[in-house]
Amino acid sequence: MTLISTQTPTAELQALDSAHHMHPFTQGAGLAEKGARVITRAEGVWLTDSEGHRILDAMAGLWCVNIGYGHDSLAEVAAQQMKELPYYNTFFQTTHVPVIQLANKLAEIAPGDLNHVFFANSGSEANDTNLRMVRAYWHAKGEPDRQVVISRKNAYHGSTMAGMSLGGMAGMHSQGGIIQGIHHINQPNYWLEGGDMTPEEFGLARARELEDAILEIGPEKVAAFIGEPVQGAGGVIVAPDTYWPEVQRIIDKYGILFISDEVICGFGRTGNWFGFEYYGTKPDIITTAKGLSSGYIPIAASIVSDKVASVIDTVEFNHGYTYSGHPVAAAVALENLRIMEDMNLVDYVKNDIAPYLAEQWHALGDHPMVGDTKIVGMMASLALTPNKDTRAVFKSPAGTIGYMTRECCFGNDLIMRHVGDRMVVSPPLVITRDEVDELIKRARKSLDEAYEKIK
Ligand code: PLP
Repeated sequence: MTLISTQTPTAELQALDSAHHMHPFTQGAGLAEKGARVITRAEGVWLTDSEGHRILDAMAGLWCVNIGYGHDSLAEVAAQQMKELPYYNTFFQTTHVPVIQLANKLAEIAPGDLNHVFFANSGSEANDTNLRMVRAYWHAKGEPDRQVVISRKNAYHGSTMAGMSLGGMAGMHSQGGIIQGIHHINQPNYWLEGGDMTPEEFGLARARELEDAILEIGPEKVAAFIGEPVQGAGGVIVAPDTYWPEVQRIIDKYGILFISDEVICGFGRTGNWFGFEYYGTKPDIITTAKGLSSGYIPIAASIVSDKVASVIDTVEFNHGYTYSGHPVAAAVALENLRIMEDMNLVDYVKNDIAPYLAEQWHALGDHPMVGDTKIVGMMASLALTPNKDTRAVFKSPAGTIGYMTRECCFGNDLIMRHVGDRMVVSPPLVITRDEVDELIKRARKSLDEAYEKIK
């Protein structure tokens, strides 16, 4: 084996990487040409790469490092747990202290009757669990025909077969199709699809597509609706105010289950513990991952209501993962939650840093290339446009200008992502006001550079 370290020259690391490492959501051939950026260290909101650049991570990794990088106590807790009990499973009537503690903590944090927790290792897996759980629920209730789950186009619910199918990403569906029993309705993306309607009219119209779909499929065949409070990977799409109340009304009317996918919106990102609290909806199951451990270790959790758990508990739910509730992951997640509480992080987001970021973010709206600016808590997006008055899209293939702008951001040591021609940020929740200023300064410089290229 070739011995390498962070001291190995970047070009050598890149060559070895592209020779043997298949990257997610990356074109391998492009990697071989250009080489991946090698990240070597991180602290707070700052990454360091193998060339010594200090990069502002406005994406918190993949929307997950909520408490920021560099909290040593998580490493200490993991090491201690590995020494004491590195592994045991939770199948067949066994348990252990970290998983008991974490399930109880999550039941305490999650409002209402969300009191039961099923553990997985990733958001995708947790959504697989949820799909199986809602079908098992209706089966146990004597309604086995209720199999269909309704989701939205341009939603992201993961990358496993079920997660991908639940999601509404056309580029993923086109590479091999989706599983049966998933139905997609349109997304509440006013900027792109609102036409001549007002945002309020559009929000209602898009919500009512849920009712149309239920009636078309047959209410006796619909198991659940799944939705992210704010569509993260879809481009931080914030629904008009009329949307979620109407969706909840329809869910209640037909008695279907509601899964709120909180993988991005959970653990403080919206200024609440969970995103559904921001909108006042009442989910039966929530999907959580990412911020649960701030990305320090893989762990995910479906947090389940009394209503659903009381039915699932009457049968043996034939489902589980070797690492469901892994003791080391559970101990790290607990420490992460302890830090969040200790820092009053949810309150900091709601009452301090999110309003500050919102002010600065909306100010970018004066840029000639920026149309829509949207922000909920610490997730924000802006639409790049050739004409903000008409909500026009660029003539170049969708995503060309977004990609170019992202490259300018990289050049300015800022990680800002593009989704088509929408730019998105989701920084660590611990970001300071000075760091927000720096983020905005670098974003504006990058927008200027991109604009120069297309003028
Ligand atoms: N659900 C949502 C809303 C997500 O944003 C993601 C990942 O970005 C997932 C599910 C899948 O999570 P994972 O990548 O941990 O499988």
